[in-house]
Amino acid sequence: MFQEIYSPVQKIEIDLFDNLFVKRDDLIDPYVSGNKWRKLKYILAKASNENKKHLITFGGAYSNHLVATAAAAARFGFKSTAFVRGEAVQNEMLLLCSLFGMKLIFVDRQSYKNKNLLFKSHFEDDLNAYFIDEGGASKEAVKGCTEIITELNETYDHIFVAAGTGTTAAGLLKAIQYKNLHTKLHVIPVLKGGEFIKDEISKYTSISDHLTLHTGFHFGGYAKTTPELIHFIKNFTEKTGMLIDPVYTAKMFYAIADLQRKNIINANDKILAIHTGGLLGILGMKDKF
Ligand SMILES: *Cc1c(COP(=O)(O)O)cnc(C)c1O
Repeated sequence: MFQEIYSPVQKIEIDLFDNLFVKRDDLIDPYVSGNKWRKLKYILAKASNENKKHLITFGGAYSNHLVATAAAAARFGFKSTAFVRGEAVQNEMLLLCSLFGMKLIFVDRQSYKNKNLLFKSHFEDDLNAYFIDEGGASKEAVKGCTEIITELNETYDHIFVAAGTGTTAAGLLKAIQYKNLHTKLHVIPVLKGGEFIKDEISKYTSISDHLTLHTGFHFGGYAKTTPELIHFIKNFTEKTGMLIDPVYTAKMFYAIADLQRKNIINANDKILAIHTGGLLGILGMKDKF
């Protein structure tokens, strides 16, 4: 689709890190943010090719993917509907979804599990309806994420990314393999038990020794934080002028600092961190700060 990409690479000059650069995908757009635009790009193109005009997707009440889909739908002339997991609530993220014209259908956790059934039972007769999985997970999303790598003008010894479903990581790994780079990809699962990310990635590309999972940086699980992580965020943001969020990117930057401090990553090695965006989520975590 038709969005110009602004995602510069910037060096981070604070003493927590050595030789760290950041790919600022958070600057792509405040609402269709970071990897969510990367993932939606070819999904929207496919929907458009198939003449579908109504995007149907799924997410939790604080999902960056829902806001991104709602904003992108409005911008590119689609209708949008989301199945939202859990009881009906109002919050900042869902307000934005509604402003962008997304229709919200709240469903209990049990029904939410069967997304195909939800889609069928509500939209079987809607020839315009186009199914987008939770978080946008799909082949098209992986393709969009490969472009994070193909856009780079330099090579790096290590690339770091936070993972929820692992779709973004799959795209990065695929591009690293395709381009035959020496780069190691370091994936930080933000959920507990992050080993499953490997299975997710292997749906899209072969697991190779380019890939390292660091499963010890979940800070208690998805959307969980600790005072230490919050302190890290405040310090990082104050010193760099760059916002990071407690759910994804803070855990990744924390991991980089930790692995450098322990010399697991060599101080001379050149590192690129992917800033995957998603900063609106901070608004839902006011009480943590
Ligand atoms: C959704 C999201 C991720 C996770 O991406 P996956 O492709 O699901 O692994 C990472 N960072 C941010 C900021 C996100 O919003």
